[in-house]
Amino acid sequence: MSPETRKTLEDAGYAYESNGFCEGCDEPVEFWYDSTGLRTPISILQIVESDGSKKERSINHFAICRAARRIRNDLRKRSKKD
Ligand SMILES: [Zn+2]
Repeated sequence: MSPETRKTLEDAGYAYESNGFCEGCDEPVEFWYDSTGLRTPISILQIVESDGSKKERSINHFAICRAARRIRNDLRKRSKKD
């Protein structure tokens, strides 16, 4: 199950680091460390429920990042050079 709110992120062992921007698409993201210490960009989405109430939902930014493929390719190229 993927973490869906800040509370569930914390319960899943994530630790908040800072607010920032995706280096691929410049969308605002929050950086969190996951339970293995990996720095992960998280997008906080505002979801409007059917009754009109708003809910925050967090997802891994790479799931929605329009530059995710390019970033992954860059990471692959970088690791090939090493
Ligand atoms: Zn992005």
